[in-house]
Amino acid sequence: MSELPVAANRQLRAYAWRTIQAHRAAFGLVLCLQALSAAAGLLAPWLLGNLVADVVHGHDTVPRLVPLILGCLTAQAVLVRLAGYAAAALGERILAGLREQFVADLLALPPETVEDADRGDLITRTTRDVALMSTAVRSAIPATMTSVGVVGFTFGALLLISPVLVPPGMVAMPVLFVAARWYQRRAHAGYLREAASYSRLTESLSETVEGARTVEAMRLTARRMDQLNEDIANSYAAERYTLRLRNVLLPLCDASYSLPVAAMLVVGGTLYLHGVVSLAAVTAGTLYASQLLNPLDQLVYWLDALQSAGAALARLLGFEQLRESTEAPAAPAPAELPSDWHGTAICPGPRDIEVRNLHYAYQSGHDVLRGIDLTIREGEWLAVVGPSGAGKSTLAKLLAGIYRPHTGGIAVGGRELSGLAPAERRATVALVTQEHHIFRGTLRDNLTIARPDADDEEITAALTAVGAWDWAGQAGVDSAVGPGGAGLDPAKAQQLALARLILANPGILILDEATSLLNPQAARHLERSLAAVTSGRTVIAVVHRLHTAQDADRIAVLDDGRIAEFGTHQELLAKNGAYAGLWRAWQG
Ligand code: ATP
Repeated sequence: MSELPVAANRQLRAYAWRTIQAHRAAFGLVLCLQALSAAAGLLAPWLLGNLVADVVHGHDTVPRLVPLILGCLTAQAVLVRLAGYAAAALGERILAGLREQFVADLLALPPETVEDADRGDLITRTTRDVALMSTAVRSAIPATMTSVGVVGFTFGALLLISPVLVPPGMVAMPVLFVAARWYQRRAHAGYLREAASYSRLTESLSETVEGARTVEAMRLTARRMDQLNEDIANSYAAERYTLRLRNVLLPLCDASYSLPVAAMLVVGGTLYLHGVVSLAAVTAGTLYASQLLNPLDQLVYWLDALQSAGAALARLLGFEQLRESTEAPAAPAPAELPSDWHGTAICPGPRDIEVRNLHYAYQSGHDVLRGIDLTIREGEWLAVVGPSGAGKSTLAKLLAGIYRPHTGGIAVGGRELSGLAPAERRATVALVTQEHHIFRGTLRDNLTIARPDADDEEITAALTAVGAWDWAGQAGVDSAVGPGGAGLDPAKAQQLALARLILANPGILILDEATSLLNPQAARHLERSLAAVTSGRTVIAVVHRLHTAQDADRIAVLDDGRIAEFGTHQELLAKNGAYAGLWRAWQG
């Protein structure tokens, strides 16, 4: 099982820059609204300072200044609201983009990469990490932007009313800066470790639940419990570490918030007594200093959420990295292919399948398929037989384009299969296995996955062709199936899978022991349904029941990753080799 990659800080910065570029106008609007709201918020203390000075000096400016102060406060409230709305809308757009990108990256991964990946990590990234990013984008980023804006404008205002009042306003900054740097240096790694510990815990839990019967049968309960306890202990330790970081950061910050007000009163008062600054400036400066408390508190509060979101983003962007590293080359390297290969050319002729020098290994150095050469003519029915572990299912997945050949290639109608776009590949070739999933929804939903524009007539025809109309028509195509709906037995589920195929209408069908899990009666019934699906198509069937192979046009006997025999049923019996042996054994 391989660990999924995590994006480096450089990639996070590149993502942030790309995002800002892509939403330039929206970012500009948010910044403008924030600047205006901050300016309105700063005007009120300045006017209040003037009012205090006027009253002290006996000028009656109350009727003029009070409405102005009230106007500023109202304008600030409205602008804060508008800025919040614009920031939230921007956040939603960024989040939607990130989610779409994440789903696209995930779906673009080759199945073997997903199969090989740590499942717990995969689940934690798709659930917890996405949720953390949602919180950050919806709340933390807008609040941080607003707070940074307010702090910046407040210092700008202090500078305007009297530059000497800036230092007392900044008295908390060194403490906050040192505390935040100390925290930041440790928090990113701490949160990555925390997320990795959740992944391990999820993996252990899902593994135990999925393998519950084996755990019980092999009396592994105590061992699994020990594993879970260890994972919980690791998770707890990782949580405690980030909690300890917060326990140092937050009290330090809380203590430093009151410093600017105290410093402004002491320094500003002294400077006023020495005639350096006016009373209005000291009053406004003290109000500004007290106004800093809230945005600074917000900044520290959200710094924590931003750190865990940063770790989550690094894990989500890791998929992009994985996608890039597993991206299929446009065509296999020519050196790997035999000289008569013409896979990349689009041939107008029949859609024959050409397999040349095909090798595949799940683990490097251990080839499961070793140099398969095969030509399957359009409309032909080929049965693939062989002992367990010979590589039949692996060959089926390669022929369906699910796995990509490591060496050699597969061409359909002269075009290399792994070079086809996913939609074109799905329209060309379909794999039917013994695994069939019924999605939560209606029967219709389950069928139109294959072709969203299928109408009632086509759905009825597809269900009738596979012999499912009797029960499906009775229940109605809009009846609920899948989890929470009607449970369908394996035979019915398989019929639905075949009806989907009729709607999808691919030219080539790969059947991988499609009926082997069913009881003989259901299997015979289904084989009749299959006949409706397979007629007129090229069929490659991995078969266990040799009577099915007997009906095939030709048979390939696979043994230890190689084609041991190839020919018609009669030819192979006459040869009296491996197939004849299997046939005799099967005949009993
Ligand atoms: P059966 O008739 O038992 O289904 P098969 O002929 O279909 O066998 P494959 O399933 O293709 O054989 O397996 C060929 C070899 O590859 C076996 O040794 C199997 O253990 C191995 N193998 C199959 N799938 C994987 C996988 N996902 N990872 C690693 N090895 C695998």
